Amino acid sequence: MTERIYNFSAGPAVLPLSVLEQVQRDFVALPGLGMSIVEISHRSKAFDEIIEGAEADLRKLAGIPDNYRILFLQGGASLQFSMVPMNLLPAGGKADYIVTGSWSKKAIKEAQRIGTVNVAATTESENFTRVPRQEELKLDPEAAYVHMTTNETIHGVEYKYDPETGDVPLVADASSDIFSVPINVGKYAMIYAGAQKNLAPAGVTLVIMRDDLLARSPAGLHTMLNYNTHAKENSLYNTPPVFSIYVMRLVLAWLLEQGGLEAIGRQNEEKAALLYDTIDASEFYRAHAAPECRSLMNVAFRLPSEELEKQFVAETTKAGMDGLKGHRSVGGIRASIYNAFPRAGVEALVAFMKEFERTHG
Ligand code: PMP
Repeated sequence: MTERIYNFSAGPAVLPLSVLEQVQRDFVALPGLGMSIVEISHRSKAFDEIIEGAEADLRKLAGIPDNYRILFLQGGASLQFSMVPMNLLPAGGKADYIVTGSWSKKAIKEAQRIGTVNVAATTESENFTRVPRQEELKLDPEAAYVHMTTNETIHGVEYKYDPETGDVPLVADASSDIFSVPINVGKYAMIYAGAQKNLAPAGVTLVIMRDDLLARSPAGLHTMLNYNTHAKENSLYNTPPVFSIYVMRLVLAWLLEQGGLEAIGRQNEEKAALLYDTIDASEFYRAHAAPECRSLMNVAFRLPSEELEKQFVAETTKAGMDGLKGHRSVGGIRASIYNAFPRAGVEALVAFMKEFERTHG
């Protein structure tokens, strides 16, 4: 087998090795079926078992209550930026958006095409180094919903609390930290996530929504853009991303084997602490995010100069580490260490950072 390196990509991102190996083993012919997962009908009994198994494991892992629907959609989290307001923001209504980085800015842009949108809080003037505190949120009790981004993948800031929105439904883009720690689903009316960081290969978008929200979709909405279409047909109105859902099923089984979200959450806390502690102990490295909002998934930091950052990235590549260059809008370094990223890879980066500081600091 070709040797694997440490992949710090922000997404698509590293998947559990045991899952990749199982996919490889079973790719040509699923056991007992004699056909590949990418050759079978989405209406076959074999695929029914896969999608139903994925749904059951999602419910088990996150304690998703019965009055929530689980949808497997396409179009990425980016299409949800449009589908959320198209379905949930009635004509003449208004919505609250909390703006904490590039992804929430993209979400609000699409909502503005549909109706009146209020910025409930923004940390843009602080270069998105933190998320707002509860008492900073200017929430409108008449808003159709409040939209938030649980983890800003580019800026590396993450909520450590569930915002309280009273009777107003809370909608969360959880693309980059879904199932990285235990989640209180009941606090949210809807959670959506592109799956390509913590759950699956690209191609499937997970939507978990309280069923009362389905009544809001306007009748004239295009069929594929209406949540009711997918809810009624159990995500099989048209051909779903069969392969991605299959791999998600395996990743969910892997998560359960790890001990579920509490166990994976502890591992993630430990992995992130290794990096943040190294950064904090040095004068050379500087974290982007404020300590109380630091992402467990995307650790963004700077070096004393862009020149040193370039050198850092080049040398990590030589040392068998990929994907550490920060997003062009923030610069610096970003280490994405999702659920499947091994602790040994974090330890290797920490050792590299110490040596780099010693020789360049
Ligand atoms: N939201 C967040 C927080 C993201 O990190 C991303 C992708 N990096 C998106 C939305 C967009 O997801 P997609 O590429 O699936 O449309």
